[in-house]
Amino acid sequence: MAYEFYEILEISREASADEIKKAYRKKAMEYHPDRHGGDKEKEKLFKEVNEAYSTLSDAQKKAHYDRFGSADMGGGFGGGQGGFHTNMDFSDIFESFFGGGFQGGGTRRRTNGVEGEDIEIRVKLDFAEAMTGLKKTISYSRKVVCTECTGTGAKKGTEPKECSQCHGAGQVRRRTQTIFGIMEQTGICDMCHGTGKIIADKCTKCHGERRETLRTEKEIDIPAGIDDGMTIKVRGEGNDGIESKTGDLYITFNIPDSIDGLTREDTNLYYTIEIDPVEAVLGVKKTVKLPVLGERTLEIKAGMQHGEILKFKGDGVKHISKDQKGDLYITVNIKVPTHLGKKERELYHEIAREKKIEVADEGFLSKIF
Ligand SMILES: [Zn+2]
Ligand SMILES: [Zn+2]
Repeated sequence: MAYEFYEILEISREASADEIKKAYRKKAMEYHPDRHGGDKEKEKLFKEVNEAYSTLSDAQKKAHYDRFGSADMGGGFGGGQGGFHTNMDFSDIFESFFGGGFQGGGTRRRTNGVEGEDIEIRVKLDFAEAMTGLKKTISYSRKVVCTECTGTGAKKGTEPKECSQCHGAGQVRRRTQTIFGIMEQTGICDMCHGTGKIIADKCTKCHGERRETLRTEKEIDIPAGIDDGMTIKVRGEGNDGIESKTGDLYITFNIPDSIDGLTREDTNLYYTIEIDPVEAVLGVKKTVKLPVLGERTLEIKAGMQHGEILKFKGDGVKHISKDQKGDLYITVNIKVPTHLGKKERELYHEIAREKKIEVADEGFLSKIF
């Protein structure tokens, strides 16, 4: 029981917040009810994943959970909380006896239809595209209803015939000896595979598959702020169904998290510049050119220390769904020059004398080098 939230998300107990988020996205995608049309098992897993994430993504709840191995913050398990440990019910027992091919009761009938499957693809974006969003034409393969047979699977001019075993019902009744006695079960007809129809002459184009695979181009509106690993669902752009629903298209994006020293973390951006000690001592207004963002003017105050961070509020990446932007943070490092001109060296020596600092003797140095 204890600590199974980590098992549900398949992560270690040492996983970072980022790793937890990534694991959650992956699992939620996998079990999302939209993709499994009423599959109760997947729905249950989806609930578990959400429950695990709602605890592990909340610092306070996670700390409690890590200590006690339970999401219960006091007051006992309420509605939904921890309620996913349902016992195996009678239908599970039937499943294990009949291999899942039989449906209890026989009230549902398999139709001649084919449900359109979802399609998952991955698309690469570059750093700047993800920041600004864009319209992008993507190319992928999808199954569409065969134009030759219009989805019957039968050769042009012929029709599929009624199945002689189930007489078009798509299912047959079978009696089976079980430990509970003789059970009568309704199962899918193995002759027509539940379609109720037999195709004598197959369509020459789709070879009886009823659908054909075509390369498709689709323009997708990608919102600003999309991040690596995020998925966009495009309804109805998966595989065609026949007398049934069409699948959806799921696009997962691959996006680099940095470009030429500019690094992105969620909606914040990070960059590092180097300044001369003189700039740090006396202060300066400095214009720097950043990748993607362009020029920014930095206010280096006299006496700035090495490693200080300047914040540019709202200069980060737009949040994908909220009307707000992250920030830009520029770390200022002081770079000590390693080569000085003659005049510069003299001036540094002058400062040293003024501050009564005994610097390394130039004559002594020249003997070494
Ligand atoms: Zn065809
Ligand atoms: Zn049949």
